[in-house]
Amino acid sequence: MASAPSPRPSTSLAPGVPPRVRFCPSPTGNPHVGLVRTALFNWAFARHHQGSGAQFVFRIEDTDAARDSEESYQQLLDAMRWLGFDWDEGPEVGGPHAPYRQSQRMDIYADVAAKLLGAGHAYHCYCSQEELDSRREAARAAGRPSGYDGHCRDLTEEQVAQFKAQGRTPIVRFRMPDETITFTDLVRGELTFTPENVPDYGIVRANGAPLYTLVNPVDDALMEITHVLRGEDLLSSTPRQIALYQALIELGVAKQIPAFGHLPYVMGEGNKKLSKRDPQASLNLYRERGFLPEGLLNYLSLLGWSLSADQDIFTIQEMVAAFDVSDVNPNPARFDLKKCEAINADHIRMLEVKDFTERCAPWLKAPFAPWAPEDFDEAKWQAIAPHAQTRLKVLSEITENVDFLFLAQPVEDEASWTKAMKEGSDALLATARERLASADWTSPESLKEAVLAAGEAHGLKLGKAQAPVRVAVTGRTVGLPLFESLEILGREKTLARIDAALAKLAA
Ligand code: GLU
Ligand code: ZN
Repeated sequence: MASAPSPRPSTSLAPGVPPRVRFCPSPTGNPHVGLVRTALFNWAFARHHQGSGAQFVFRIEDTDAARDSEESYQQLLDAMRWLGFDWDEGPEVGGPHAPYRQSQRMDIYADVAAKLLGAGHAYHCYCSQEELDSRREAARAAGRPSGYDGHCRDLTEEQVAQFKAQGRTPIVRFRMPDETITFTDLVRGELTFTPENVPDYGIVRANGAPLYTLVNPVDDALMEITHVLRGEDLLSSTPRQIALYQALIELGVAKQIPAFGHLPYVMGEGNKKLSKRDPQASLNLYRERGFLPEGLLNYLSLLGWSLSADQDIFTIQEMVAAFDVSDVNPNPARFDLKKCEAINADHIRMLEVKDFTERCAPWLKAPFAPWAPEDFDEAKWQAIAPHAQTRLKVLSEITENVDFLFLAQPVEDEASWTKAMKEGSDALLATARERLASADWTSPESLKEAVLAAGEAHGLKLGKAQAPVRVAVTGRTVGLPLFESLEILGREKTLARIDAALAKLAA
């Protein structure tokens, strides 16, 4: 697959060093679609370069005890498996850099923090929050950069003794070198950060807990990650991390600085960034609605990437074969639910019928299905399934499309009833009943002819004649092809439902 020439440099894989990428979510809340897109691009990158020994590392960044939960951790693992992202190293799989949960690696971080302090790359900062805030305000008012001002960079022994005597406990701050940092982003090209915009930053809390700013690059270094592909929201941490890497290399902790690629923002409704708290962003919602992992991944891959200008629908194998991070578009991508559904519908149609019927199973029973388990009829289901497969956007729609087969009575939907039952509908239904009663029930054509003839007898086209029959039998104005539906429901039930509708109209 030829891709358009890119102005950005492509990933240059050092010969002999297999690329290693990672997906390292924090287990807070439900997995969301932005996170899935990040996992997808990393996984696709690794699988694209599988031939050269590329590896995909899955790491859990659970150092924030106040926000992380075991439930969320389990959901992440479950989501990864549902999406089909296998990992070469990580939780439950293990690997040479185990453990892969940061909460189990605390002594590693304490050791690295001590080394950074020892070498002068980090220092203790005793400033209280109030002091930081008031100095920030003053800097703002004076039009100076408002980040940390380096107050504790070079404290004397007396000052330290005084702070300790006051009972202050310090945080650990990384000392940013006083120089401009430039790197070539795999997606955005060359980026430059000047020192006044990247102040010294905290790496360990006053209570000794290491922060994301430390544990994330330390683990990327120790796990020998070569390419960091992550969301644009993390771009501001990259110059800090590059400086930290330089210190880690000096200390013998890191071997190299990875390449970075920042994936575009995902925008939601009203051109606002899709927030992970936005219900529309929750992966569980898509699973419950019956998106296929294939369909969802196809759509999410289009948030910043494309296979070609004229092909929106493709398999994950096609994506993997073509994926190159230098083709990722840096502009924000808009999440378009309609398009996501349309692509999912295509993937539903692409399934083998047998596969389709199996994947519908959860929506054919409680709590989704309103019928009793013993009223479900496997033969009827197998007969109707191919007709449903071509019409669903998401699998959960199957329930309402086939409920007329398994409920004793069609659903009562007043809106549909009023819409379909017009003056003369009773006469039409009576004729249709008569014709259907003497039709050949082994083919939908014969049933269609029956309704067509009934319509003609009352001066109605097929479409108009069909509507009252459909509502009488299925309860709804829209649904699967009518004559196939009638045939599968059977003569006896169809006629009985038309009789019931006639009685209701007469009442
Ligand atoms: N744990 C971080 C997050 O969830 C990972 C950031 C990164 O990929 O470097 O945002
Ligand atoms: Zn300070």
